[in-house]
Amino acid sequence: AKAAGRNTFRFYDETMQVAIKQRVILESALRQGLQLRQFQPFYQLQINDAGWVLGAEVLVRWQHPERGMISPADFIPVAEETGLIIPLAEQLLAQVCRQLVAWSSQPGFADLSLAVNVSARQVRQEDFVERIIAQVRHSGANPQRLKLELTESLLLHDMDDMIRKMTALKAFGIGFSLDDFGTGYSSLSYLKLLPLEQLKIDQSFVRDLLNDPNDAAIARTIIALADSLGLSVIAEGVEHESQRRFLAEQGCHTYQGYLFGRPGPLERFMASLRLDEQG
Ligand code: C2E
Ligand code: CA
Ligand code: CA
Ligand code: CA
Repeated sequence: AKAAGRNTFRFYDETMQVAIKQRVILESALRQGLQLRQFQPFYQLQINDAGWVLGAEVLVRWQHPERGMISPADFIPVAEETGLIIPLAEQLLAQVCRQLVAWSSQPGFADLSLAVNVSARQVRQEDFVERIIAQVRHSGANPQRLKLELTESLLLHDMDDMIRKMTALKAFGIGFSLDDFGTGYSSLSYLKLLPLEQLKIDQSFVRDLLNDPNDAAIARTIIALADSLGLSVIAEGVEHESQRRFLAEQGCHTYQGYLFGRPGPLERFMASLRLDEQG
């Protein structure tokens, strides 16, 4: 038993070492990627029933010279653990603000808003609010065109602190959307305490909307909840017209998903809007 125990221990030890090594490699690659500005915003359309484009969600991509395009799921967690998410988010926000400024003088683009994902590590910074405000001010972007996406888990950590920070950013003009709504451990009572603007129905409920009565019930409940709290509601992961129609019937009129467009580089996003205007 002792020998087996030791073997087991050695086994874990090795896998852990491999994992640690991989993490160290990824961390230094992230550092280098930041220096070389390899992180790029992709844009995914947000659109309403009338065909009006409201703006886009910004989804980060890592343009790695050897490994190609790396998806955020593969590096955001390590960026969070190492704290590199802070400079990464700053670089991304700078690009987003620059884009808002560029659009502000372009007819048709001036009203678009951009939604940016925020991580736990960021909002827990003591000076989170001051940093965001300073960056947006410096860029000259209109804060009204900027939306921050927060997840439930992030809010529950220190509610009073979050309320204080969100209230300050809201006063500055920035709106908040509650991302992946319904997937966290929500106590619904906190919703009315937070200065939110929007609930975002998670794609896990949208996927089987037409086949799974539970998902349909959850979606319906979120829509009703948003309505009664005076919040707007958007559904993510809308891939089929049947899902869109169902959501519309339930009172959700704003969407994001492959049905309307995949996340893509700026040029592709803007080209899809031009097509829209002509059509
Ligand atoms: P999320 O915020 O829930 O973003 C939605 C994800 O669903 C995106 O994956 C998007 O590409 C994908 N998606 C959009 N429409 C559809 C659809 O119709 N069907 C399906 N199956 N999927 C769809 P992505 O871009 O890989 O991002 C994954 C997650 O990474 C995001 O989930 C977000 O949590 C995180 N993330 C992305 N960019 C950033 C960032 O700049 N900062 C932080 N902190 N997190 C980010
Ligand atoms: Ca999001
Ligand atoms: Ca989401
Ligand atoms: Ca999601």
